[in-house]
Amino acid sequence: MSNQLDRSKSELLFNDAKMMFPGGVNSPVRAFKSVSGPPVFIKKAEGCYMTDVDDNRYLDFCGSWGPLILGHNNAAVRDSIIETVAHGTSFGTPTPHGNEIGHTILDNHSRLEKIRFVSSGTEAVMSALRLARGYTGKNKIVKFEGCYHGHVDSMLVKAGSGLITFGESSSAGVPESFAKETIVAKLNDCEGLRKIVQQEGHDIAAIIIEPIPANNGLILQDLEFLKLIIDLCRENQIVSIFDEVISGFRVHFEGASGLYNLSPDLMTFGKIIGGGMPVGMYGGKAEIMSMISPDGPVYQAGTLSANPVTLAAGNATLKQLLHPDFYKKIELKTETFVSQINDHILEREYDAEMIHIGGIFWLKFTSKTIKSADQIDPLSMEYFKKLHHHLLQDGVYFGPSGYEVGFISSAHTENDLNLAVEKIRIALDKTFEY
Ligand SMILES: *Cc1c(COP(=O)(O)O)cnc(C)c1O
Repeated sequence: MSNQLDRSKSELLFNDAKMMFPGGVNSPVRAFKSVSGPPVFIKKAEGCYMTDVDDNRYLDFCGSWGPLILGHNNAAVRDSIIETVAHGTSFGTPTPHGNEIGHTILDNHSRLEKIRFVSSGTEAVMSALRLARGYTGKNKIVKFEGCYHGHVDSMLVKAGSGLITFGESSSAGVPESFAKETIVAKLNDCEGLRKIVQQEGHDIAAIIIEPIPANNGLILQDLEFLKLIIDLCRENQIVSIFDEVISGFRVHFEGASGLYNLSPDLMTFGKIIGGGMPVGMYGGKAEIMSMISPDGPVYQAGTLSANPVTLAAGNATLKQLLHPDFYKKIELKTETFVSQINDHILEREYDAEMIHIGGIFWLKFTSKTIKSADQIDPLSMEYFKKLHHHLLQDGVYFGPSGYEVGFISSAHTENDLNLAVEKIRIALDKTFEY
């Protein structure tokens, strides 16, 4: 009945890749370990469609894990890359491209006074944490269970046991002595956070959070909780850091900070600001940023930082986001898409719900509200595995893990989304064996 897609070329390439790269990949989730079959090898993409090496076409909701808010191969972004690269790829000097994107960002983001470019989100977080420690002269960092901040040692930490949970490393290779410098708190838990700051605040350099946690499902926080983080930091000489690598320039030009009207001390960015090229950036209050070398004593550098090609791609992306209705349009499209799927879920009485904020959506296999990571049932991921299989067979590409969110870009048209709703409804029926 189900017409199996031929993915034999992908399979061959994957077998070959496994001989060269650990797990056949250069970033773990790409290996399709949480879903079935070999990963899809993509050869090209345009708008919201990707084509694999076997010439199958997929309607894409992964968007390269977030950067492609304009869809794949956006013409203005592509042109700016080609135009820039024609003059060389890297000079190891300041370039006018830096001033251009600097003005695009700083003239339109009221919470950023000074910024610095790096080459990945991980690097942005690593640098912001060092800066917070250098600025405060304190050591400990508070993070929240269920937030991802890249693969920095001090962030590869999970909650240990005990009242105040000094972290335990969640990856081999991270010494327990490093992990102990990180305190892991529960999302959306005001009382718990107050207690931690009361007891340990004298040695806490920073509290870091994804203001819109979107790397472990989509765990939307109460505004009150986010406000509490800012307030506790201000009262206790702690640096507040919003990790906006996903939410930045996605839900609002000023990210979650703009959407919620909050002003953290520092923010970290990546993904969208590179227009599909490798990138990271951190920034915030000038007083804190002035601690960075060469102005101040906190060292941070990068051979390819602010690479002209990346900056040109980023600037060509950001300029399109400044269009007055840009975010409203994506929000409306996403709302319609999500409500059509939820209507079907309600009608069939499946225990599931799709939630969204801006153009970010997540399908959870429970109708209960989720505010912290421990409320996600790992067993529910079995449903996602089935759903993913059926969707892929029908030419719809979701990130290959139930903990990943989906993204709607400006390139997803109403027609594309209607088609996707149709296919997702069918895949849900197959998943729940309706
Ligand atoms: C993707 C992501 C990172 C890591 O960025 P990389 O460019 O993959 O290093 C950090 N924080 C958040 C919130 C992210 O979504």
